[in-house]
Amino acid sequence: MKVLEDRIRQEGLILSETVLKVDSFLNHQVDTELALEIGREFGRLFAGQGITKVLTIEASGIQFAMAAGIALKVPFVYAKKKKAVTQAEQMYTAPVTSFTRGETYQVSISRHYLGPDDKVLIVDDFLATGAALVGLVTIVREAGAQLAGVGCVIEKGFQEGRGLLEEMGVRVHSLARISSMAPGEVQFVDHNDP
Ligand code: 5GP
Repeated sequence: MKVLEDRIRQEGLILSETVLKVDSFLNHQVDTELALEIGREFGRLFAGQGITKVLTIEASGIQFAMAAGIALKVPFVYAKKKKAVTQAEQMYTAPVTSFTRGETYQVSISRHYLGPDDKVLIVDDFLATGAALVGLVTIVREAGAQLAGVGCVIEKGFQEGRGLLEEMGVRVHSLARISSMAPGEVQFVDHNDP
């Protein structure tokens, strides 16, 4: 998505060879029109597949899942990272080790909002090691729901996330695929590359 690549080039801060900060338009302050456009693009990529729900993980996936849900005219559900006060048996849970914080936490989704009748699109802001998305895929499978695929806003293609998801048989679509980055320079995967 060219408009997204341009914004990453203009405003992205490369904190190291593996961490990109996009707080001015995606992760802290949010460009609402861009978020809606991202949602429309996910809607276009996954149109006509009978998706009933968009799934994400709090907090930074929420605005994109909402935008995709608006485009697909379905609800979105976000997995929670904190222990819920609800009974554990009412929740699907999976462990996730955070790439940016290095800690392991449980993600959980209520059994009320995901089940065998659902066809799910998973959306998140970044695909890095894939841990967060593998956790959500595990939950979708545990719930007996169908998975249409995963939509990521930014993929760091030099990390292992895509490979892990594809090994699990998951279709992955990223709107900006970074092949390498160094301070002052971001390279994207060529649009003709596989
Ligand atoms: P994972 O390693 O599980 O694929 O990434 C999990 C989460 O870490 C992403 O959803 C995102 O919130 C955060 N993350 C991973 N890499 C980056 C990065 O380079 N920049 C920012 N801002 N967040 C990241």
